[in-house]
Amino acid sequence: MTEVGMVETSGIEASTAIEPPPKLAVWKFTSCDGCQLSLLDCEDELLALAQKVDIAYFMEATSRQVAGPYDLSLVEGSITTPDEAERIQQVRRQSRTLVTIGACASAGGIQALRNFADVEEFTRLVYAHPEYISTLSTSTPISAHVPVDFELQGCPINKRQLLEVISAFLHRRQPQIPAHSVCIDCKLQGNVCVMVAHGTPCLGPVTHAGCGALCPGYHRGCYGCYGPKENANTAPLSHWWQTELGADRADLIAGFRNMNAAAPVFLRESLAVENGAATKANPVPEKSAPGPGQNPDAPLGKPGP
Ligand code: SF4
Ligand code: SF4
Repeated sequence: MTEVGMVETSGIEASTAIEPPPKLAVWKFTSCDGCQLSLLDCEDELLALAQKVDIAYFMEATSRQVAGPYDLSLVEGSITTPDEAERIQQVRRQSRTLVTIGACASAGGIQALRNFADVEEFTRLVYAHPEYISTLSTSTPISAHVPVDFELQGCPINKRQLLEVISAFLHRRQPQIPAHSVCIDCKLQGNVCVMVAHGTPCLGPVTHAGCGALCPGYHRGCYGCYGPKENANTAPLSHWWQTELGADRADLIAGFRNMNAAAPVFLRESLAVENGAATKANPVPEKSAPGPGQNPDAPLGKPGP
C-alpha cells in the first residue's frame, strides 16, 4: 500500500532563512465528511488560517499534497476496515500532534451501532456479493488504535471550537473548550426547558456543550450529538425519563445509542438498561470516559519529536 501523504512536491521544503509555517493535514476515515466541511465552513477565517499554516494534505479541499511529517493532523472518521486500521498507524507516525474531530473519530460514530449487531448477517442481507466486502465487525474510535493528543467532540463539530483548537496549537497552549453540559448553554440562552415544561425526553444534562443548545432552542430534546460531558451522571437521567416522562426500556436504549453509542458513558448506560449485557466490541468500562484532551500530558502545541 502506498504510504499516505508521501507525494513529493517541488521545493516547498527547501531550506530558507525563514522558518516554514507548521504543516496541517486533514485525514478522512469512515465518516460523512461533515466535520471536514465544518473546517471549510470557516469562510472568514480560512484565508487567515492559510497564512498561518501550510495546508499540506486536505483532499476534501485541494489535490495538492505535501509529504509528511505533519505538525498537526486533524482526523475525521472511525476505523471500520482492515485498511483503515493500517492507515491510521501511518498517519500517527507522520503526525507530531494528532487531534480527532467529531463523534466518528472520537467515539466510533453512528456506524458503531454495528458493534451491537452481526455485521456478517448485515452484509449477507444487503449486498448481492458479500464476498467482496472487506470490513471489520466493529467501528472503533481513533484512540482505540493510536495515541490521540486531543478529542474534539460533536456531530458535526463546532467550527468555532475547531478554530480554537488550531489556534491553541499555533500558540502552544491547551484549547479552551467548555466542559459543561448542554443545559448550561440552554439556560444562558433563556430557553424554556422542554423536559420540565413539555415532558420531552432530553439528553442535555449529560451531553457536552458545543452546539449552543440548538435542539431545545427549537423545542426539541437534545439528541446527545456532542457525546457525554465530563462526569456525566446518566443513571438519574434514565430514572427521570422512566418515572416522570414514561419512557420505556426501548426509548432509553434508543436515546443513548445514537451518534455516540460507543462513547463509554453512553455505552455503559445503554448496556445497564439492557440488563448489563456486554457486546463483542464494547467492554463495559469501569470509569467514566476521559473528557476532551485524551492525553493531558501532551498538551497541544508541545514541540514534536
Ligand atoms: S461526526 Fe457526524 S458530521 Fe462528523 S463525520 Fe461523523 S457523522 Fe459526519
Ligand atoms: S431543555 Fe434539555 S438542555 Fe435545556 S435545560 Fe432542559 S434538559 Fe437541559
